[in-house]
Amino acid sequence: MRVELRKRLKFEAAHHLPMAPEGHRCRSVHGHSYTVEIAVAGEVDPNRGWFLDYGDITREFEPIRLMLDHKHINDVPGLESGTAESLAIYIYRKLKGSLPGLLEVTVRETESSSCTYRGE
Ligand SMILES: [Zn+2]
Repeated sequence: MRVELRKRLKFEAAHHLPMAPEGHRCRSVHGHSYTVEIAVAGEVDPNRGWFLDYGDITREFEPIRLMLDHKHINDVPGLESGTAESLAIYIYRKLKGSLPGLLEVTVRETESSSCTYRGE
């Protein structure tokens, strides 16, 4: 049987949006408590009764978290735009290949604003 698992992980970081229009409040450096939701899908192993250990998702994300946590996101090569879109794509590409059944990555900047990337 096929299942979908989701794991929410957090980090805190600063960013700004240099391409935002003049006067846009996000042109200024500010911070977010980011939530990243990583979704994977696959078949349940009938012997173990699970598809994947949630801890595997946490472990695969940890090097990425260490790169981003309490950093200025725009300083990370590939994340110069500082957007949630660039973060979701960046994290997806970093996890693809190492995390079985990767389905999508959602980056939430605030309670009401998030971006999901599912690959091409
Ligand atoms: Zn922001």
